[in-house]
Parts: sequence; C-alpha cells; structure tokens
Amino acid sequence: MTETIRLFDNDPYLRKFKAKVLEIKENQIELDRTAFYPEGGGQAGDTGKVGGVEVLDTQKDDGRILHVLGAEPPFSVGDEVEAEIDWERRHLVMRLHSTAHIMEHFLWERLGKIERLGSFVDENKDRADYAYEGRLPSEDLKAVEESTNVFLAEGHEIRIDSDPAQPGLRIWRCGPIEIPCGGTHVGNTGEIGSIKLRRKNPGKGKERVETSLS
Ligand SMILES: [Zn+2]
Repeated sequence: MTETIRLFDNDPYLRKFKAKVLEIKENQIELDRTAFYPEGGGQAGDTGKVGGVEVLDTQKDDGRILHVLGAEPPFSVGDEVEAEIDWERRHLVMRLHSTAHIMEHFLWERLGKIERLGSFVDENKDRADYAYEGRLPSEDLKAVEESTNVFLAEGHEIRIDSDPAQPGLRIWRCGPIEIPCGGTHVGNTGEIGSIKLRRKNPGKGKERVETSLS
C-alpha cells in the first residue's frame, strides 16, 4: 500500500490539481495525490469534483485517501484526471477551524484548562465539547467571544511547523497559541472576520461551545 500524497499539507489554498487514478472500488476512488482533506482530526472531509464527477465526501483508510463519488466514474484506473475541491466550503472550514483554536485559548485563559472531550468542524460551525459541571456562564462566554474577535481583527499570522524528528506531527502556531493539529488553516487571522459563540448542553457534565462566523 502506498500512501496518498497530501497536497493540502503544503498548500491548504490549492483548489485544482491533476492526479492519476490508482483504484476504483464501487463509488470510492483513490488517486496518487490529492488536495481533498479526508475527514479526521475533528474536521469534515472535503467535497468537490474529480474528472467531472461530484465528490460527496472524503475519507481516510490508513494512509490512503478515498474520494466518495456521487455517480459512476467515466474514467478508468491509470487515467489522469482533473480535480477541484469545493473551495467556498473548504475556506469556511479553514476559517472556522483556525478560530476554534483561538477561541479555546481564550476559553482556557478565562476558565482554566477544562478538558475537551471532542470537537468537529464543518462549513457551518465548529462545535467543541468540554467536561464541565453546570452551565458555562454567559458572561464568560461573552468575554471569550470578545477576546477572540479582537485577536482575529489584529491580523496574526498562522504557521504550521513540522519536526523532521517526529514525522506526521504538525504544530499549529499563532501568536502565543500552539497546538498539535493536522487540519487545514488560513494563513492569517485577518482572513476570518468575526465570530459568534453559543453554548449548548449535550449531556450531563458536558458543555458545548459552538462557534460560527458572523
Ligand atoms: Zn485543529
């Protein structure tokens, strides 16, 4: 098994690319390289088009990336195809994913490092669940929202660093914040705009913070 070349790691802004079809299995296809981000690390899989056929979702199978098609492919194994991600959707995901790390920094600054139980970001919102008894106070949430929006507007650079000694590990850095993350991100917080926070209670001992663009 060869691993799919992950074009989005080096260039999260890459929208169009050419690739060779390595495998077609029912409605799932594997390319030698791809700009489609597969669902994982709390980020939704990309959509778009490969060889003129709609890609409904992108999934991971070990190191291979599988594109889930919405129709029979008109191409065959060995063909070179043109592909394009749904950039509008992906850019929303990038803006929200970058914001999620910044929001969490200010949340932890305010409430202490409450444990994150899970998170998921798509084009509509980021949702992050934290171990928390009772209700997250609305004045705290308001303060976190304000600090996040001020920080976003300041236009901080976002960098992803990798360590050759630890292959596969990617460190997301922005101002004083750093966190391991393999997702796709914008290059500057100025690209994000402003955000709104909402709380929800998904179950006992759990509080959810939803971040959306405003
Ligand atoms: Zn992340």
